Order: sequence, then C-alpha cells, then structure tokens
Amino acid sequence: MIAHHPSDELLLGAAAGTLDVGAAIVVGAHLEGCARCRASVHAFESAGGAMLESIEPALMAPEALARRARISQVAGWPRQRPPKPSACIFVRSSGPRLPS
Ligand SMILES: [Zn+2]
Repeated sequence: MIAHHPSDELLLGAAAGTLDVGAAIVVGAHLEGCARCRASVHAFESAGGAMLESIEPALMAPEALARRARISQVAGWPRQRPPKPSACIFVRSSGPRLPS
C-alpha cells in the first residue's frame, strides 16, 4: 500500500505539464502505481479542459514565437523548432478540432 502521495500542487503541475524533468519523472512513476493520484490528475486535466473550452481562442502575436526563441537562447534552453501557427489544434472533450 502506498503511504505517501505527491501534493496537489505537484499533481496539478503534472496535469498542466509544467513540472521540471526530475519532478515529472518522480510523479510519473508514482502515477503508474497509484489510482488515487491518477484520478486527481484526471480531475485537474478535466478542469483545465473545461476552462480552455470557456475562453475564446485568440491569435498569437506575430512576434510571439520569435520572442520565445530569443528567451530560449538567452536562458540556454534547447533549441526548438516552433510550430507553425496554422498547425495549432484546439482539443475539446469530444476530440481534436481545427480552428475555424
Ligand atoms: Zn498517490
């Protein structure tokens, strides 16, 4: 029986995908064996999805990806190829949907 569980803050971070790599590995390993925490993460994901569905989609500022690239360069983050804005997909509970 599992005696210790990650905090709600960590589980929320796992649901949002905002944990650093180390925390994500530890929490992910815990989630493999803990139905209680998986249920919490699922609830956080559902709440986040509902919040996303309630807001109007907005276009990114034209310079947003270039700004993100400059921040990554200054911070020493791994270089990423930014996605094309036209490739963005809005996910709803009924499945993926392309922006209209
Ligand atoms: Zn747990």
